Amino acid sequence: MPTLYVVATPIGNLRDLTLRALDVLRDADVVAAEDTRVTQHLLDHYGIAKPLIAAHEHNEHAAAERISGLLREGRSVALVSDAGTPGISDPGAHIVAAVRAAGMRIVPVPGANAAAAALSVCGCDARRFLFYGFLPAQAGARRHALETLKALPFALVFHEAPHRIVSMLSDMRAVFGDARRIVIARELTKLFETVHQTTLAAAAAWIDADANRRRGEFVLIVEGAADTEDGADDEVERALALLLDELPMSRAVKLAAALTGARRNHVYQLALAMQDAR
Ligand code: SAM
Repeated sequence: MPTLYVVATPIGNLRDLTLRALDVLRDADVVAAEDTRVTQHLLDHYGIAKPLIAAHEHNEHAAAERISGLLREGRSVALVSDAGTPGISDPGAHIVAAVRAAGMRIVPVPGANAAAAALSVCGCDARRFLFYGFLPAQAGARRHALETLKALPFALVFHEAPHRIVSMLSDMRAVFGDARRIVIARELTKLFETVHQTTLAAAAAWIDADANRRRGEFVLIVEGAADTEDGADDEVERALALLLDELPMSRAVKLAAALTGARRNHVYQLALAMQDAR
């Protein structure tokens, strides 16, 4: 059956490609890639010769049409991004939505993901976490986004680029305070892989101490807000999930606070984060 395979590729170490991903890349008729040069390098490494088409954030609509057309002709397509899992801070979501809307088969081929790799070695309480991805680049919007996350009792997982790491850590400290712990996971699976746990007060000094620490790709994991007098957030979230579907946010927050006994401001912060995540 013609199928769109959504295939995870390595985030650094080329050997982090699953055996199944190799099978799928070998068997697909076409590989749709975020950057065909990056994927060509991966395919060359494994001796796979395959027609490549571009599917990046600037042509996702056209790429979705083209991929749907290929599937309609009975061909199979493997969709990959430059690194890790397509659709996670990467193009892919629109293509998947379009192919699903056209009623065609989509199969995930799971594998590397930078956030999951960082969570697996962070050593913090990440039983519950919120994956945020990239914060806004603009300072005001970034601080606002951090404010909406401040009260959440979940570990917070961010992507960050090297040129923004210093300002990002400074904004996090300003919004979350000095005491919160952070895990800085850098260059995972690569030669200079570093995983460092510290506090937001000490993070800037650690980054400043060695220019190499500002280089590469980062996942940042910040511990969640202490879960104190606000009670069981599971209950608040369940109430909010139902109410936000039916009511404006202010009404939903008011009712969820009344139903659960949680502070209205805390419920409001949760509602903002849930709405952002929708
Ligand atoms: N789709 C990818 C995934 O599943 O991991 C994420 C792609 S996103 C465009 C790129 C960001 O992921 C980088 O800016 C960095 O935050 C993170 N990242 C990717 N590879 C990484 C690595 N080897 N070590 C640490 N972070 C990495």
